[in-house]
Amino acid sequence: MAEEKMIRPVSNSMINNGNELNSCSINSISGSVIEEAFPMNGGDGQYSYGKNSNRQRKAADNVKAMLVEAILENLQIGNLCSTTKSNSFCIADFGCSVGPNTFIAVNNIIETVTQKFEIEGQSSLLPEFHVYFNDHVSNDFNILLSNLPQNQQYYAAGVPGSFHGKLFPKASLNFAYSAYSVLWLSKAPQTCNKGRIYYSHSPKEVSEAYSFQFANDFKSFLDARAQEVVPGGLMVLLISGRPDGTLPQQYSLGPLYDPVESCLLDMVDEGLLSVDKIDSFNMLTYSPSMEEVRMVLLENGCFEIARLEEQPPMSVPLNTTQELRAGMESIITKHFGCDIVEPLFDRYSKKIAAQSRPPLTAKDGLAVGLFILLKRRK
Ligand code: SAH
Repeated sequence: MAEEKMIRPVSNSMINNGNELNSCSINSISGSVIEEAFPMNGGDGQYSYGKNSNRQRKAADNVKAMLVEAILENLQIGNLCSTTKSNSFCIADFGCSVGPNTFIAVNNIIETVTQKFEIEGQSSLLPEFHVYFNDHVSNDFNILLSNLPQNQQYYAAGVPGSFHGKLFPKASLNFAYSAYSVLWLSKAPQTCNKGRIYYSHSPKEVSEAYSFQFANDFKSFLDARAQEVVPGGLMVLLISGRPDGTLPQQYSLGPLYDPVESCLLDMVDEGLLSVDKIDSFNMLTYSPSMEEVRMVLLENGCFEIARLEEQPPMSVPLNTTQELRAGMESIITKHFGCDIVEPLFDRYSKKIAAQSRPPLTAKDGLAVGLFILLKRRK
């Protein structure tokens, strides 16, 4: 697998640590060559993603019924053997991180595919399952693979590399899955965002630059998957997004990032950080409207949109300090340097303890979950 992939590997040493940034310069020194990679914290310590990914797990649990229904209603098992080389069913999780959520998702997918074979009276033809776990090269694949469930009913392989490029041979995947990963941008949007770390309170030009970058990235993602997924194969994407007819500022992950921004600005006031550092830093996630998603899909043209809808609503508490560190430590460290980590997260703990606010919902401007089910056209 690894030898076949045609990707540009990410080199940590080449990722901008922000030291050379001028005011409002953009933290992509790359042009098109380098893709930014900010994996979740590896290992199994108190700030690891493995120990602090419960909210993503709840979000995926929230759509389990939709996932099961999607497979039962749309998977065509009749032509499986004719579309794959051997009697195997290949599943890939794009942006799987370190577990355990990916194992739960894969399990749900395999159970449901098995059920589909049973319902159709084809149990004797049940294929062997092959599962590919993809994430950036710098993801902690050791911890991921060493935590594989003990009795897993599938062959497993880690596939390092950016999902914005092709990672698998043509027509080799029966089922592509990705949870809360496609919302991550490949690089900072080309925009000047003064005094802010996100677009939720920024002028329109800033959110437009985010939207533009998302469209480019999603296009690359789809172009690659269009080659890899077999005709009739399915793809389920979970992302944070917005209802149609809404502006990026109205629904985003901004409410979760606001306390971080506020702590960083406090540190500027205290003379611990230069404001330039904040001007040149942008969180790399975007929550598109369904319309934005649909437009890129239509332009790609290789997938039938079987479902594109909002997930059942959920309320979400502010990130605990551990959750925030698990998800944001690498991006913060690369831009602001290691020294900022303890003082920043210490301030964050105090700030959220002082707020003790009820969980956030869409009424607070929090993005909604989108459920996207695509079928590769034949
Ligand atoms: N799917 C997991 C993890 C979500 S966190 C879950 O539901 O718990 C988002 C993950 O996407 C991170 O591990 C990050 O490294 C990965 N990611 C972001 N951009 C990526 C890219 N271009 N290629 C591969 N993985 C990417």
